[in-house]
Amino acid sequence: MQNLLDLDMAGLKAWLAQIGEKPFRANQLLRWIYSRGESDFSAMTDLARTFREKLPEVAEIRLPKVVSDKISDDGTRKFLMDVGASNLIETVFIPEADRGTLCVSTQVGCALDCSFCSTGKQGFNRNLTTAEIIGQLWLANKALGFDPAGERIISNVVIMGMGEPLANFDALVPALNLMLDDHAYGLSRRRVTVSTSGIVSAMDRLREACPTALAVSLHAPNDALRDVLVPINQKYPLSELMAACKRYLENAPRDFITFEYVMLDGVNDNPAQARELVTLITRAKFRCKFNLIPFNPFPGSPYRRSSRERISAFANVLIGAGFVTTVRKTRGDDIDAACGQLAGQVQDKTRRVERLRIEEVRA
Ligand code: SF4
Repeated sequence: MQNLLDLDMAGLKAWLAQIGEKPFRANQLLRWIYSRGESDFSAMTDLARTFREKLPEVAEIRLPKVVSDKISDDGTRKFLMDVGASNLIETVFIPEADRGTLCVSTQVGCALDCSFCSTGKQGFNRNLTTAEIIGQLWLANKALGFDPAGERIISNVVIMGMGEPLANFDALVPALNLMLDDHAYGLSRRRVTVSTSGIVSAMDRLREACPTALAVSLHAPNDALRDVLVPINQKYPLSELMAACKRYLENAPRDFITFEYVMLDGVNDNPAQARELVTLITRAKFRCKFNLIPFNPFPGSPYRRSSRERISAFANVLIGAGFVTTVRKTRGDDIDAACGQLAGQVQDKTRRVERLRIEEVRA
């Protein structure tokens, strides 16, 4: 049985050919499933009756199951979704005056183990399928609906939830294609942002396959510190990461890279480190913006949030050097939906949680 949510336009056309149907049916199916949010084949009234009757025998529209839907005091809404075998993922909607952003997960947990990240501490179970990635947008769209002007409430998508998106490349790209496809969600490329910790080889592949906006979790101005905070840096050091960012923008010179930088008290937040960051980026010579993220402490974390004064002193160095710099508002703290707090529930296959407990006992 084919889950249609696993297929983008090209995949759908190939599957239709296999079952002896015409390619134009792909446009019809995408419009029904994504633009109109329909999951019942019998309601897809402009499909030929014979095709409509055949569909339930060969295909299904299988979504993750929403097990909780909480709204924070500031309007942030967190969906907890069951993807089977006691694994839960999180999807968060963040309303703002001029946009509505959905933060989507790509893995159950994360294998990369950044030292400040709550998701990383949960360990890793598996990659999500394309259906489970795009299904988060489908379900959130259904729950949020349209505004009074008939516009979709979700105007932007950030692939920044649980997991490292580029470590799940093959499932991610068809989901991105569906977000951008005019027959499906029709979002502009600049309104879909993939956030990576810096898997250089996959950044090059994304540029070829589906060049959405790109955010890079930087968090440190030099290799010595980044090796500790973002261990993938040991494989792809800053010189390689900067070169990959530059290549990413080669075909889109008006675009920019967003650098995410979590503010950890006394670790990466002093003005000298901001100046080091300026030197690093100025040498690399490409357009970028900085997004400073006040750290959200979680139980067992070794770090504290930088004070407001330290964050503004750091921001002022970057702004003084001519970089657009924003400080992210902490949203949804009361429902654990803030950045770095997405933890879901992971049946950990890496034994990371167990190892951490052993280390804690030894310490
Ligand atoms: S910050 Fe991102 S890449 Fe690092 S452990 Fe957390 S989810 Fe994984």
